[in-house]
Amino acid sequence: MKKILVLPGDGIGVEVADQTIRVIDHLNTSNNLNVEYEKDLIGGASYDANGEPLTQHVLEKAKQADAILLGAVGGSKWDNVERTKRPEAGLLGLRKELELFANLRPAIVFDALSSSSSLKEEIVKGLDIVIVRELTGGVYFGQPRGIEEYESGKQKAIDTQIYFDYEIDRIARVAFNLARKRNNKVTSVEKANVMETGVLWRKVVKNTHRDFGDVELENMLADNCAMQLVRNPKQFDVLVTDNLFGDLLSDCAAMLTGSLGMLPSASLGAEVEGKTNGMYEPVHGSAPDIAGQNKANPIATILSFSMMLRYSLDQQDLAKIVEDVIQEVLNEGFRTADIYNNDSQTLVSCSKMGDLIIERL
Ligand code: NAD
Repeated sequence: MKKILVLPGDGIGVEVADQTIRVIDHLNTSNNLNVEYEKDLIGGASYDANGEPLTQHVLEKAKQADAILLGAVGGSKWDNVERTKRPEAGLLGLRKELELFANLRPAIVFDALSSSSSLKEEIVKGLDIVIVRELTGGVYFGQPRGIEEYESGKQKAIDTQIYFDYEIDRIARVAFNLARKRNNKVTSVEKANVMETGVLWRKVVKNTHRDFGDVELENMLADNCAMQLVRNPKQFDVLVTDNLFGDLLSDCAAMLTGSLGMLPSASLGAEVEGKTNGMYEPVHGSAPDIAGQNKANPIATILSFSMMLRYSLDQQDLAKIVEDVIQEVLNEGFRTADIYNNDSQTLVSCSKMGDLIIERL
């Protein structure tokens, strides 16, 4: 029996998590999924109840769980709360404590939505790639950093890009292992032409590749990769890159697919207390503008759960079933408001989208 911790969070996080829980319940009864889950608080909801956006109690439960499903956190209600107690601090704290160093962001274009992309339909139709972004190292954390005066009245800013060989090796392993479950190709992205970290990155990835001879490895400069992503994104399978390039390239790839309400993600961790953690969450936030109105698109969260099935619960077949069913519902023309764009489609609520998915499961 696998154990999941569900942290719905705030705003639409609660609504989309509810629909995903219905999917889990259904798979438990109809497909012998055999998963036990427990719900708890994070973000603003936890602050309101406990005065902390992430309690020690929830952190301990997260460490013990086989995987975590998170909705979203945040909202203007907590705008004036001290920075360390804001909802986002709870999420960042959880990622840090679980050492979630690998962020997986798939960019999948469902056939029914291929005309919603800003690119031509033939370029994105059938797109299915994953960007693996290093999440805990690089220029966002490197020391020294800061803004200093170098002459009276004049300032300079410093950020430091640092990568240790072991950080590159472990993220490369995530990418190669992932490629083995997909189309066996990894593109490693850096700037080895102008950056020392790029040179080390390329060298370490090449070394790690020795353990994955069956997977094809390609090296690409980050600027070229940005260009290739909009020119011919279907050439990629798994892209692996550092924190900064991953931040930019994953947002760019995400937009190939159309809507924020469709984008899942996973963050995988180092071994903590003998366990590898995985946290699964939609890319979007708590959407205060539509919260409480039953309008949110639950698909990003349900797809995040299907990533959990694939990467933490070893249920590849069920993951495929969930993804196929979502494809089917979209093909039949059902749309939540964020992806609704013409009269031939049927506009549905968040819970109705949940009903339609469960009926077809
Ligand atoms: P957002 O992602 O919450 O919303 C951006 C826009 O997209 C809104 O118009 C919203 O209605 C729409 N949208 C987002 N998800 C949707 C869905 N599933 N279905 C339909 N429409 C959807 O980003 P924001 O407005 O910049 O941030 C709102 C709050 O969320 C802030 O407090 C922010 O800090 C927080 N946030 C949290 C996370 C997270 O929990 N991981 C991520 C981003 C933002």
